[in-house]
Amino acid sequence: MESCQPIALNRYLRTVLSQQEILVRYLQQQIQMYGQEMYVVPAELIVKADVRQEIPQSVEADVMPILSKASTWQSTTSLEALQQEIHTCMECPLGFTRNSFVFGSGNPHADIMVIGEAPGADEDEQGLPFVGRAGQLLTKILEAIELRRDEVYICNILKCRPPNNRKPLAMETDQCEPYLWKQIELVKPKLILALGLTAANTLLKNKESMTNLRGKIHDYQGIRTLVTYHPAALLRNPEWKKLAWEDVKFLRTLYDAS
Ligand code: SF4
Repeated sequence: MESCQPIALNRYLRTVLSQQEILVRYLQQQIQMYGQEMYVVPAELIVKADVRQEIPQSVEADVMPILSKASTWQSTTSLEALQQEIHTCMECPLGFTRNSFVFGSGNPHADIMVIGEAPGADEDEQGLPFVGRAGQLLTKILEAIELRRDEVYICNILKCRPPNNRKPLAMETDQCEPYLWKQIELVKPKLILALGLTAANTLLKNKESMTNLRGKIHDYQGIRTLVTYHPAALLRNPEWKKLAWEDVKFLRTLYDAS
């Protein structure tokens, strides 16, 4: 129990969060791990306490709504209910820097789920996934295989934009990916298309190159998953469009056969 610290937060969190935000985050984690009870060190004097009685009066109004939501999103039975439960999420620091929570859009019972890495500036502005130039290209790519945007379900691994579009940190994806699992559970797609190497490596838990990942059927959460270039990468490197076209034709073939 010596290794169990009252608040074991990394240096990054300490630099970006206020004491009150740290308290909220810590209590959320405790609730998720242990339910409504928490153990307080020192180890030789473990005190079983009801966290609802331990929260200072001054922060209770801010903390309690978040705590009460922490354990309910897992049991939602629709995308609308899930979005409603998690759209105020502050589980990672991106919750403090986002303009909009970007949940996902499209057919809630789609056979194909398209998953990117994280919202960009346009998405953060509008609260919708893939709405900028890259999103317009994604729409054209889907139309090229005779799929409308509203026939598929489109979302990202992260629901909030990383500052300056930097790559998601491991602790951010660790916190946010369970929401994606829940979305997949609710949509029940037959196929997933992962857009971009970062999304693919994050979903598939590997460090393979795009060359190695393309053209193969992978497994993510029990769903057949293909990998192709992110539309933003295609805008920067138009010569890759031919390869992406091969990938989506493969997706269409699997879709038609499913
Ligand atoms: S990125 Fe995900 S875990 Fe982090 S605050 Fe946003 S919704 Fe919550």
